[in-house]
Amino acid sequence: MSPGLPSNSYRMRQSDPDYDAEAEYEYECTDCATIVSADSHPGDCSDCGAAMRNRRMPFE
Ligand SMILES: [Zn+2]
Repeated sequence: MSPGLPSNSYRMRQSDPDYDAEAEYEYECTDCATIVSADSHPGDCSDCGAAMRNRRMPFE
């Protein structure tokens, strides 16, 4: 690594909006539309017991 070189290109790669593995996801109840933020799948809705789905992407 040269000390004089800017690292902007590297920083831009890290802030890619499509890569968000460290962030919490929002899950939405498929029945009553309750929103839950969690870093892992919350399972069933705490209100009605229906399945929760990831609002951002269909990722298991
Ligand atoms: Zn629900």
